[in-house]
Amino acid sequence: MKAIRRFTVRTVLPPQLAGLDTLARNLRWCWHEPTRKFFESLDPQAWERSGGDPVAVLGEITPARFEQLAADATVVLEAARLVEELNQYMTEPKWFQSIFSNTDKPASIAYFSAEFGITAVMPQYSGGLGILAGDHLKSASDLGVPITGVGLLYGAGYFRQSLSRDGWQRETYPLIDPNNMPLTLLREQDGMPARISLPLPDGRTLAAQIWVAQVGRVPLLLMDSDIPDNDDISRSVTDRLYGGSAEHRLEQELLLGVGGVKALRVYSRLMGTPAPEVFHCNEGHAGFLAVERIRELMESDSSVDFGAAIEAVRSGTLFTTHTPVPAGIDRFDKSIVRHYLSAMPLPGVNVDEVLSLGNESYQGGNPHVFNMAVLGLRMARMANGVAQLHGKVSRGMFAALWPGFDVPEVPITSITNGVHGPTWRNPGFQSMALEYMAETDDADGTGWLKSEEEGGVPDVVLWEKRRSLRAALVEVARARTRASWLERGASPAELGWTESILDPDVLTIGFARRVPTYKRLTLMLSDPERLTRLLTDPERPIQLVIAGKSHPDDEQGVGLIQKLVQFADNAEVRDRIIFLPNYDMALAEVLMPGCDVWLNNPLRPLEASGTSGMKCALNGALNLSILDGWWDEMYDGNNGWAIPTADGVEDPGRRDHIEAAALYDLIENTVAPRFYDRDERGVPRRWMEMMRHTLATLGPKVQATRMVRDYVERLYTPIAAASRVIDAAPYEKAKELAAWKHKVRSAWPGVRVDFVEAEVPDVAELGDEVSISAGVSLAGLEPTDVHVQLVSGRVGADDRLEDFDISNLNPAGEKHGHQVFTGTEKLSASGSVGYAVRVVPFNPLMAGDTELGLAANAEPSAVTAHTHTSFGD
Ligand SMILES: *Cc1c(COP(=O)(O)O)cnc(C)c1O
Repeated sequence: MKAIRRFTVRTVLPPQLAGLDTLARNLRWCWHEPTRKFFESLDPQAWERSGGDPVAVLGEITPARFEQLAADATVVLEAARLVEELNQYMTEPKWFQSIFSNTDKPASIAYFSAEFGITAVMPQYSGGLGILAGDHLKSASDLGVPITGVGLLYGAGYFRQSLSRDGWQRETYPLIDPNNMPLTLLREQDGMPARISLPLPDGRTLAAQIWVAQVGRVPLLLMDSDIPDNDDISRSVTDRLYGGSAEHRLEQELLLGVGGVKALRVYSRLMGTPAPEVFHCNEGHAGFLAVERIRELMESDSSVDFGAAIEAVRSGTLFTTHTPVPAGIDRFDKSIVRHYLSAMPLPGVNVDEVLSLGNESYQGGNPHVFNMAVLGLRMARMANGVAQLHGKVSRGMFAALWPGFDVPEVPITSITNGVHGPTWRNPGFQSMALEYMAETDDADGTGWLKSEEEGGVPDVVLWEKRRSLRAALVEVARARTRASWLERGASPAELGWTESILDPDVLTIGFARRVPTYKRLTLMLSDPERLTRLLTDPERPIQLVIAGKSHPDDEQGVGLIQKLVQFADNAEVRDRIIFLPNYDMALAEVLMPGCDVWLNNPLRPLEASGTSGMKCALNGALNLSILDGWWDEMYDGNNGWAIPTADGVEDPGRRDHIEAAALYDLIENTVAPRFYDRDERGVPRRWMEMMRHTLATLGPKVQATRMVRDYVERLYTPIAAASRVIDAAPYEKAKELAAWKHKVRSAWPGVRVDFVEAEVPDVAELGDEVSISAGVSLAGLEPTDVHVQLVSGRVGADDRLEDFDISNLNPAGEKHGHQVFTGTEKLSASGSVGYAVRVVPFNPLMAGDTELGLAANAEPSAVTAHTHTSFGD
């Protein structure tokens, strides 16, 4: 019989154990091993069944068993100790409390993301973007940074992956029950669920309730539209991650951006927390947050017009781009966006003006498209990519938004991703590290990696630990392979072979990630015979453990998985190459520590950062990767291997072939020999040196705490400072900046450099001074509205300035109708050097001189006098 209504009955905890509810509901347990161990000990079966979910464990314990537990002094004491420890974690001063003066720091930061990977029991992520967001919040919590996360609660999260008999990906969408998860419904003072709502076209509304996930010190607000107030379409807005039609996606993104701002306001009102000064838009999905903030401001203060509101909102916004793959950028048909935005008009603003914020109104753009990354970039004071190389690629990709400047000056910086150490370092590995740590070593540090003589971890101990991690992976892989084959329709009697697949002493190479084409899941299959020989080598075999989900609509990706599965199904290799279905955080936690080598072979430079290799590095696995993403900047020659790339080879098939051959060569000639080169104790000496070097040098750099500190110092703090000036009632500065930008934009076509005079000594030497004088026309602008800049440095083959310095010339009055600017410059580079002179708009309220994308460059014909030999050649 089917129930007509379902509801949840909460367990009533005995008073001695009342603190367990807080302990279970604060997701700090995800990365606090003693708390996990404690919940596991209460009911090991329930722990196992729930995949390690304390809320589920408490839900399964019977009142009789609770009475027993409450009578057990050790349990009560341990519970009290853990609750006390959590209280301390929640309140004690952390890094953020110890830096700068109180007045300089952002009071609060809102972090918007379409997905959050916090724990496997909350499947609210599809891959790296979500895990990164989760790691960002966890590390912010550990550092005491006042962040609030904002996202959606998807009823079915991302899909569960299984395989058909012939290796085709199957997707199922198990529904989650938020009442039985570590989530708390946000309620009004009267106990009713707090609600936000937004108007949709055709008189519809989209309402949502707000679940709060407490991630250590950081609240994460998750909006859920599955409530009776909504019509069926609105109810299904938060049904699943990245599914459905364009309208559905757009409704999700409106809820995330517009609804997210409303949810933040409700949360602040109910909890008395400060309003965010920084809005961090993690990828384009949440871009509409800017539109909602503009609406709030214009409705609250009618003297603020659209332009001033843009300046105010922009001053407090950060945009992070996460993909250099054009297909990965979120774009909508403009007519759909117009339809939706017309339903939530801004006072006195034509919807076309709002749409223009996401216009691709630049060369190569599509006039019919609304681009969420463009919206994000236009509405952000600062922007960043997620690794140095990705920053560079992003500057090239979005350069059209700053047409006056060369690519290196495009104002998109980078902060390299990191991973949350306490989540991603295996707990057994961590306790081994702690055992060899001296009192004086810093807890995140690398003191345990000192030599054996100095009290560090001995090679044999470290190697034995690595073997045990490999053995644990082998065990999990066997069980999962068997389970997968049962789902694929095999009978238990046929599956004896799964009990002996993989070998805990064989060189284990891992590969797991989403399966978009550029990540090249099947590169390793380029030469199947050669791969088979590597797998079955009698002396130095390798084994491969592979996992990954493909987006269901990506037929090509699903096809790649099938190709791989079909290869791995061959009896000849099936005990050495395994595809494990349903890649998720739970699998990642076993897979990454269990591998000796982590393989990554994306098509350079399409991997923005990648983080899985970082998780491996924290556990002593070595990276074998194309120099892309984070690895491009962190590979140092001794911490793993770089697979040579065939950059510039146009034919993709040939490029794959060349890179695959290089990969096989590396494995066969370098990686495997080193792994199997053992000393009398059975330890691979050279390998251990690389492992220790990796742990000691990459260990600290790949941590998300390093990343979050970088965000706080380099982006959040200056943005908060700007927003305090510009986004502050009565918005004089915002109005002033908007009016000034309007004036500059109108005048700009008439701004030019008329002449440049340079005094250069006959034979210039390093350190000589050069005098420059430039006459410019400012088309009615004041000399204080601009910087006239001397840009000087080395020139490349095509006369382009490469490594250049910029210095501002000083206004020196008017001469014959020109504004004159002068200065001297010390020659600081030898060889072929050159200079350029340009006018750029200047206003101290802007983030920098590039903000408007406008520059008027001197033509070579403007140079009128005294250019001698070495300078300017
Ligand atoms: C870390 C992680 C990812 C991200 O992997 P990339 O290296 O960025 O491709 C994806 N999925 C899961 C489950 C992860 O743990």
